[in-house]
Amino acid sequence: MLQQRQSLLEAFMASQPALALQLSFPADVLGDLAASFPQSAGRLESRGSWQGPLYYFVEDGVGFTRSRENRKLRVGGQLIDLFSPSPVVAGSKCNDVIAATGVRSNNKIVAESSTLVSSALSATCSPVGAQKIAVILVSFPSTPLSQTITQNFLNGVFLGNAFSSSASTPDWSISDFWTQASDGKTYVNSSGTGALTIVGPYTLSQDYAYCTNSNGSYSDNSGAVRQAAYAAADAALNYTDFSRVVVVLPNNGSCTGIAGVGTIGCWSSECPGDGACNYSWTWWRDDQIGSRGAGVNLATHEMGHNLGLGHSASRYYATEVVGPVDVAGTRSEYGDSFSTMGFWNFGFYNAQHQLNQLGWLSSSNVLPVNTSGSYSIPGFDTRPDAVKALKIQRGTGTTDAWMYLAYYPSSGIYLSQLGSQIHTGAIIHYQDAQTPGGKTDLLDFTQNTNNNFSDPALAVGQTWADPYTDLSITINSIVSGSLNVTVNYNTPPCSAANPTVTISPLTGSVNAGSSFNFTVSVKNNDSIACASRTFSLASSLPIDATWTTSFSPASLTLGPGATGTATLTKTTPSTALGSYSVNASATSGSNTGATDPTFNASLTVTTPPPSPPAAPSSLTATAQYSGSGKNKTLQSVKLTWVDNSNNETQFDLQRCKVTGKGNSTTCTYAPLALPSANVTSYADPASSLSGSGTYKYQIRSENGAGNSTWVQTQVQVQ
Ligand SMILES: [Zn+2]
Repeated sequence: MLQQRQSLLEAFMASQPALALQLSFPADVLGDLAASFPQSAGRLESRGSWQGPLYYFVEDGVGFTRSRENRKLRVGGQLIDLFSPSPVVAGSKCNDVIAATGVRSNNKIVAESSTLVSSALSATCSPVGAQKIAVILVSFPSTPLSQTITQNFLNGVFLGNAFSSSASTPDWSISDFWTQASDGKTYVNSSGTGALTIVGPYTLSQDYAYCTNSNGSYSDNSGAVRQAAYAAADAALNYTDFSRVVVVLPNNGSCTGIAGVGTIGCWSSECPGDGACNYSWTWWRDDQIGSRGAGVNLATHEMGHNLGLGHSASRYYATEVVGPVDVAGTRSEYGDSFSTMGFWNFGFYNAQHQLNQLGWLSSSNVLPVNTSGSYSIPGFDTRPDAVKALKIQRGTGTTDAWMYLAYYPSSGIYLSQLGSQIHTGAIIHYQDAQTPGGKTDLLDFTQNTNNNFSDPALAVGQTWADPYTDLSITINSIVSGSLNVTVNYNTPPCSAANPTVTISPLTGSVNAGSSFNFTVSVKNNDSIACASRTFSLASSLPIDATWTTSFSPASLTLGPGATGTATLTKTTPSTALGSYSVNASATSGSNTGATDPTFNASLTVTTPPPSPPAAPSSLTATAQYSGSGKNKTLQSVKLTWVDNSNNETQFDLQRCKVTGKGNSTTCTYAPLALPSANVTSYADPASSLSGSGTYKYQIRSENGAGNSTWVQTQVQVQ
């Protein structure tokens, strides 16, 4: 049993780390179990803290449809998988020494918390300066490398037309992209020791399946093929001369789900034969770099990982540009299609990435803004470097939420390739406590007109007023290649607005005569400076006085931007069959909001299923005589009852005569009559009785769905 539990726990560690932490035994229980069952101690997880260099790489799916991050810690010469329900140390990279505290089982750790013990030395693996790159081309015995992927072609991808006869227009290259994006700080080394060296293709001694495919979900398994490639190229390369190693693999069908994989930063524990090393590695599938443009797209992404970057995501909120500070919204991992670290494109690494991870921008290039003012920002590709972005504090007093605002003009051979709307104003990335470490998320400022990130810019002439803080941003103009922006921290005066009212569910069904509950949601759309106010609730549909309407609570008191809900109960009359529209409205002073008629609810009222009738009551039996004295003669027993039901089809009347004496009397009922519906009396003639004595009667009401209970009475006759 412990073995089964351990397998299950380890599966959860990888797939649902938060659950694995919940399922793990507390430390005292683990201690007791280990003491009681020493032979089973190896089947138990342990709690503690483990420390070692981080090994961290990211898999990128074909078409960037999916990605997966892999983290391992090197502990005692062993690589341990590191999982965590919360982000591992913000902006961490390979060779950073991390201490992880949590639960370990065999070669897996789930960290409850993690801390950075020491940062990797960057001297030999800096994202700034000449990048020393070796590229190894690989063929498999069964699958040669694509004939397109030659040393000459790749010289063009890395260094451009001046180094390749495989010319491209425009003359995109990794080195030019980095040079332009970094103002010349970073480029591909093209001369001397560590100059770009492309070797191969080497045909390895065997084919490699370099992904693990479980049910169509591919994960990196490239260790063996990379080692074989390093060995094949060892004679041609002195690995200590390089800080970046690229392996290009043929698409042999073993890895149809992954386009490329790259380490975050440099890893010093996977060295081929030349002694100590410290380089990033990445592998690319040959069919994913079949043209210069595709090659530069994928290479600037994977080697962006190598330089230390994660992905560029977007953050989406259903009804507004951005929700309250630290409210998550929906993140899309590759959602920024204006950075090469997002969905495939030629966008430069964003301002936050360049400032905090790459060191390509310094604090003088990213102007912090926390007071009102007007600013002029040159294009993001302006050289030499200038103020490239504003880092705008989101509201007075907010210390953990920032908006990075930049201007991407339609210039040069990279930014001009981006979707055109971005050139009409400001591109704004957002960072708060919900943003994973080392990242910013693209916001969509045309969210109300087009719910996608193809047109996210806050355009010239527009003002965005934060509904949750006192911040507003106005894009004034673009003049001589610079964007003119006004940032304001003045709370605008209270601006009252009609509330938004919605009702759910949009369809319902109820039996005639019964009640149905809807949830009515009311959002206060007043501006942030307004006070809370109370909205009274109403529902005018269906227009039929025989329906009853109630709200619980009857009114909602809401602050600006807040949403509240109430239960609307509609009680239908027993005669109403059919389909009815149901609406709701909320009113406060002169502001009223109602459900959009297109989104009123529809309630279908159906015939209730039949039910047994209610029992009659007050059954009485009275003996009726004629004459008196010796001539007194029984004529009949008169029975009456009260009809309590409106759906009986008949009554069932039964009678018995009591026989026996004392404690041993018996009375066996027999059918007497079946009075029709709504009849409330019956005369039982003397001729049907069998002389004097005690008679009992019982009656019930009946219909097709069943019968009521019996009610009884008795009478003495002479
Ligand atoms: Zn990636």
